[in-house]
Amino acid sequence: MKAHLFIDLFGIEKANRVVENVVFEATYYCEKTGSYYSSKKNDAVEIKSLIQAIREYKSLVSAKSAYETRLTHWNKALNRAIVDHESTCQPKCEHGYDVACLICGFGTVDGERIYHNKGKTA
Ligand SMILES: [Zn+2]
Repeated sequence: MKAHLFIDLFGIEKANRVVENVVFEATYYCEKTGSYYSSKKNDAVEIKSLIQAIREYKSLVSAKSAYETRLTHWNKALNRAIVDHESTCQPKCEHGYDVACLICGFGTVDGERIYHNKGKTA
């Protein structure tokens, strides 16, 4: 049995236990019998390749978590940039104007939006 398949079927915890509990001079482990063997056996996984596969698995897991950490940082930075942008740029009104609009009745004074019509009764 291939080591990668063994980890896929029985999980990384099990694979770790098999490697940790390996008996002296054993080179194969068979899950079906739960025994270690000193020579190749059908359905048995080679201890050496299992160790290698565990190493690969662990580096994939850490690469995945490093990737997810970078993605989180990226999203935080992106959100901050959007908030910064919105706080320095006035959003456009529904008519497409960002400085003044005669339809909405706003103008801009010192970078602040002033609504001339607000407060007046029609
Ligand atoms: Zn408008």
